Amino acid sequence: MTTFHNVRLPYSALLGSLQKPANFHTNLMDIIWRITIGTIALGCLALPFMQSYATIGTMYSLRRCIGSPANRMPILQFRTQQAPILSVTASAYMMQALQRWAIEQFCDERLDSRVRHGIAAIFKAVMVQHTQAGCMGVSERCGAQGLFAHNQMTALHNEMRGIAIAEGDILGLSIRLVTEILIGRYEMPPSINPTSLLARHEAGLFKELRETIASVPHHRSSEVNRLILPHSQAMVEAMGHRMAYDAAVAAGVRPCLIDLYVANAVKLDPAWYAENAHLGRRAQADMETKAMDEVLPLLGTLVREMDVIPYITAPIVSDELWSAFVGSLQVFKGNGKVDVFHEQGPDLFTPDAEMVRSHL
Ligand SMILES: Cc1cc2nc3c(=O)[nH]c(=O)nc-3n(C[C@H](O)[C@H](O)[C@H](O)COP(=O)(O)OP(=O)(O)OC[C@H]3O[C@@H](n4cnc5c(N)ncnc54)[C@H](O)[C@@H]3O)c2cc1C
Repeated sequence: MTTFHNVRLPYSALLGSLQKPANFHTNLMDIIWRITIGTIALGCLALPFMQSYATIGTMYSLRRCIGSPANRMPILQFRTQQAPILSVTASAYMMQALQRWAIEQFCDERLDSRVRHGIAAIFKAVMVQHTQAGCMGVSERCGAQGLFAHNQMTALHNEMRGIAIAEGDILGLSIRLVTEILIGRYEMPPSINPTSLLARHEAGLFKELRETIASVPHHRSSEVNRLILPHSQAMVEAMGHRMAYDAAVAAGVRPCLIDLYVANAVKLDPAWYAENAHLGRRAQADMETKAMDEVLPLLGTLVREMDVIPYITAPIVSDELWSAFVGSLQVFKGNGKVDVFHEQGPDLFTPDAEMVRSHL
């Protein structure tokens, strides 16, 4: 914490001019405009985080085998193991496309500065949402290893919590953005695929909130506090999901990754899709299963293309890193003795797991 006592500041230390502004709030937003650069820059960190979770999850799940000593198989064969890894992999590719689009828009000075600020807020909200979900999903499937800071995931998760708050707390940003859109001050760039599931979801949520705000006396009323604020972040995330979809389609992201991302986004608000898009529970599950079946054979290639292995320090990803890690531990010796009573057989890779390993 930095504090000052009786320090005479030069005129140049002040942000903005000494003139009393006509509007204090607008003036504050003007002089702190560079915070928005921080909002978007911090959001960008979520991409390498997601790529790291996909890489750690894949490598660990290929290395960790179960079964009898003569019949050992990698845990990657289980759909329960594949699901969070495939999900964060799809999110990483989608967010890469969103990142390019969002930065392009943000740098376009022809756009209203409030819209550019809104894009930064939406971008950060979805980046944080997907990376935190990806971290929990993958680290939980690494068993006890997922808990250790030296396996990177819990440390990155905590760092991302700080990012969610710094340079604009996501909830605060969401409340402001949604309120200002609802009272008609400005609008976000519209979808280029307005009939897509995610665009319809975004439009549907907005319609509900618009109906609510039209029925209340003022945008600062207690009804807004109770009825709009709790939905603001989900509304912003829905905008981000749609923007990610549009950006990924335009950037030519592999269709199976887009399909998996959409299936995962549907799971975030399944009742809406059941009520409004004729997508019942079974149809939602089928969408996800089909998309995962298509992404799985590509997993090794997708992880290799992420190219983050040089930055992975988690010792669970390879025998070499694990041996070095074990070798670095303090040794306590005793006299205990156990007879070896089993021969260990070779690891048996299922075709799916072998496909991932051979492309990694
Ligand atoms: C990693 C990190 C780095 C930081 N770096 C800096 C730095 O370099 N310089 C600096 O000055 N500050 C820095 N900060 C501080 C940061 O700006 C504040 O933490 C942030 O603005 C949130 O304020 P707060 O922590 O006081 O939380 P609070 O504002 O007390 O928030 C507490 C809770 O109240 C909610 N809340 C607050 N206001 C509203 C509202 N109007 N409506 C509804 N809910 C609301 C929040 O969403 C949150 O859930 C950093 C913070 C972090 C985590």
